Amino acid sequence: MLSVNLRGIAYPASPMHEPDLNSPESIQAMDHIRSILKFIGEDPTREGLLETPKRVIRAMHEHYRGYAMDPADALARTFTEVEGYDQMVLLTDLDIQSHCEHHMVPFVGKAHIAYIPDGRVVGLSKLAKVVDIYSKRLQVQEKLTAQIAEAIQVHLRPLGVAVVIECRHFCMCYRGVHQPRAWTTTSKLTGIFLKNLATREEFLRLIASRGRAND
Ligand SMILES: [Zn+2]
Repeated sequence: MLSVNLRGIAYPASPMHEPDLNSPESIQAMDHIRSILKFIGEDPTREGLLETPKRVIRAMHEHYRGYAMDPADALARTFTEVEGYDQMVLLTDLDIQSHCEHHMVPFVGKAHIAYIPDGRVVGLSKLAKVVDIYSKRLQVQEKLTAQIAEAIQVHLRPLGVAVVIECRHFCMCYRGVHQPRAWTTTSKLTGIFLKNLATREEFLRLIASRGRAND
């Protein structure tokens, strides 16, 4: 089994492009942000807030960059020279930094991904890239989990994929039910992870043995 723990490793950098702040869409969006500032009781013309609409647009461009990326591209290049390697490939502690589609506030945590190759493997960073692409969109954790597993299953065609995601949701921590310590765990299993109990248990044991991703 190949296991890679990414705890403490910098989040994989993605190409960042500056948004065109002069486009009609950006100008309109900045107007809307001024309206929201007024709505919360602020004065968008005061000095401290003059540049805020621009900053918010830039931040949104980063938070939602996943819409401009296709996981099929990330998983297009696979390798068949694996010297007969046919055991589990496991990546743990990939950072999740996403935004919930219900409140547009962050949810953050970790993803753990395993697959069992069927003659083909993919560069490990490409799995992190798939996580990045889907998490940089408006999401619900259940959908994010399923999308990551589905993309790997469809494009890499392994014998099976397992994805577990553990997150804290700011919409639960700092508003609503105010449960700052609550973790949400979701999982999606395909192929051999569903059919073979021993494979599933091996995966779950390896995930459990690394402890809660609360650092
Ligand atoms: Zn929410």
